[in-house]
Amino acid sequence: MSSQAPLVDIGINLAHDSYDADRAHVIERAHEAGVGFLLVTGSSVASTRAAIGLVQARPNELRCTAGVHPHHASDLDATALAELTQLASAPEVIAVGECGLDYFRNFSPHEAQLDAFRRQLELAVRVGKPVFLHQRDAHEDFLSVLRDYRASLAGGVAHCFTAGLAEARAYLDMDLYIGITGWICDERRGQHLREVVRHIPADRLLVETDGPYLLPRDLKPMPKDRRNEPMYLPHVLNAIAQARGESPDVLRKATTQNAERLFGWPTH
Ligand SMILES: [Zn+2]
Repeated sequence: MSSQAPLVDIGINLAHDSYDADRAHVIERAHEAGVGFLLVTGSSVASTRAAIGLVQARPNELRCTAGVHPHHASDLDATALAELTQLASAPEVIAVGECGLDYFRNFSPHEAQLDAFRRQLELAVRVGKPVFLHQRDAHEDFLSVLRDYRASLAGGVAHCFTAGLAEARAYLDMDLYIGITGWICDERRGQHLREVVRHIPADRLLVETDGPYLLPRDLKPMPKDRRNEPMYLPHVLNAIAQARGESPDVLRKATTQNAERLFGWPTH
C-alpha cells in the first residue's frame, strides 16, 4: 500500500455473488490501490450474515453493516427482525442499515418500507450504532421518519447521495454525513453533484464505490465485465477533489478521519 493515509470504502456490497470467484483478489487490489478498509454493506438478513462471515475471515481490513434494504422491506417480519437484531449486536457490525426508503423502484409497498425503516432506526438506537441510510425519491417521508429518531441515534450517513443541494443541506442540518459514489464521474447525470459537493463541509464527506454497482463511467480502460470494485475508489476521490478544487491528499485524509469519527473505525 502507498504511504498515504489509507482510504475507507464505506459502501461495498462485498457479499454479492459477482465477487464469489475472486473476492480475495478484490481485497488485494483495493489494498494495492491504497484502499485499506472496506465497510461491507448488509442489505438483507442473508447478506448481513454473509458479510459478518467475511469480516471474521479478514478482521484487519473489513467491518460490515447489518440491515434490510427498502427493496426487501416486505421481508422484515418478526422472525427476520429478531435475527437482524441479533446480527446487529455482533462486534463485526459497526452500523445498522442499509435502511431507508426507495420510492423510485417501489419493490416493497410504501407502508412496508416505512415500517422496516422505523424498526431499523429503533434497532440502531438500541445497539448504539450509527445508521447507513438509503433514500431515493422519498425525501419528505424519509426526513419526517428520521426526525423522530435523530436525537437518539449515534449519527448516520446518507449513503450514495445523488440528489440536489436542498437535500444535502437538509441532511447536513441533521448532522448526518454524506456518502459520494462514482455517480459523480458520470458526465451527464453526475454534473449537478459536482456542484453539490462544493457545499459539503470536509468533515462531513465519506467516499464509497457501492460496488459491484455504479462503475465510474469515465474509467479508462473500462473493465470488460463492468463490475465496480474498491480499487476504483481513488478515481472517485479524485473526481470529488477536483470538483471541490482541493488536493486529493487532503480529502483522502479528511474522509478517513470522518469514517473513524462516525463508525469508530478504523482506529490507529
Ligand atoms: Zn443504497
